[in-house]
Amino acid sequence: MSFKVAIIGRPNVGKSTLFNRLVGKRIALVDDQPGVTRDRREGDGRLGDLKFIVIDTAGLEEAAPDALETRMKAQTDRAIEEAHVCLFMIDGRVGVMPEDEKFGAALRASGKPVVLLVNKTEGKGLEGVYESYGLGLGEPIAVSAEHGEGMAEIYTALQPIH
Ligand code: GDP
Ligand code: MG
Repeated sequence: MSFKVAIIGRPNVGKSTLFNRLVGKRIALVDDQPGVTRDRREGDGRLGDLKFIVIDTAGLEEAAPDALETRMKAQTDRAIEEAHVCLFMIDGRVGVMPEDEKFGAALRASGKPVVLLVNKTEGKGLEGVYESYGLGLGEPIAVSAEHGEGMAEIYTALQPIH
């Protein structure tokens, strides 16, 4: 059985950037089935000596507005269900948005282990880190998916769950 890590969060927080960093060129599968699974990507992720399958939940850009919420929820629910641990990402520069609260509630309800990542914190975004404690998902990790900051802290969080 492979250990699965899902990256969860609203659009534009940096999920795919982290996915690309964890997977590098090792994308195992692009699921291009129609409907809710269309934009989902899975890849062989690696962080130090940890190996796992990463699920990137995703690009909702093409969805019709009325279908967006439904589609996002279905895709996210499926990823959470499959995952052994969820990396829940918010944007530290924007802070906690109502949509983040919804994802947070779904994650808490799932009972899955959650690692809270506050992204885009290179240089700034610390207010977002403080604010994220309010999500009730434990200690946040400040990261920069783009610059590769916080990867050792993600490793430390995943290592005991793996
Ligand atoms: P997704 O919709 O959650 O998958 O987000 P993306 O990975 O597509 O990133 C959305 C935008 O945020 C892109 O313009 C990225 O370049 C940018 N981004 C991602 N990670 C970081 C980061 O660590 N710092 C900053 N400043 N921008 C980032
Ligand atoms: Mg994406």
